[in-house]
Amino acid sequence: MSLGNSCLSSLAPLIKFFSNHPKRKMAYVVTENCIKCKFTDCVEVCPVDCFHEGANFLAIDPDECIDCALCVPECPAEAIFAEDDVPDGQRKFIVLNATLAKVWPVIAVRREPLADADQWNGTPDKLDQLVH
Ligand code: SF4
Ligand code: SF4
Repeated sequence: MSLGNSCLSSLAPLIKFFSNHPKRKMAYVVTENCIKCKFTDCVEVCPVDCFHEGANFLAIDPDECIDCALCVPECPAEAIFAEDDVPDGQRKFIVLNATLAKVWPVIAVRREPLADADQWNGTPDKLDQLVH
């Protein structure tokens, strides 16, 4: 069944609204301080299971993220940012999240953090420690 012209025109305002919505393509992004911490508190609150798990980092699938921001305050490492707010030095994590989320499995249940998570929490320049 196809939508008739009258139906389409009645939807036009909604289509225009979502097309022009400033947050339409934004997603949340896991950044550097998650590396070697992976506390996983974030995954349990995500309503759409868009976290994906690697050995020492999590990635958010931007195609699944609904921008609800529920995960942000749950992260003890303060590693999750809205795409537009990712700090300048960490913008490479936007592409990293999108890429790694496509090859890593979904994680929806909290696990124990990595054994030395507290020592690594706040350590700068950890990108070379990322296992992928
Ligand atoms: S809670 Fe933060 S540090 Fe832990 S896995 Fe999620 S994003 Fe990474
Ligand atoms: S912003 Fe919402 S949908 Fe996106 S990863 Fe966080 S909890 Fe999941």
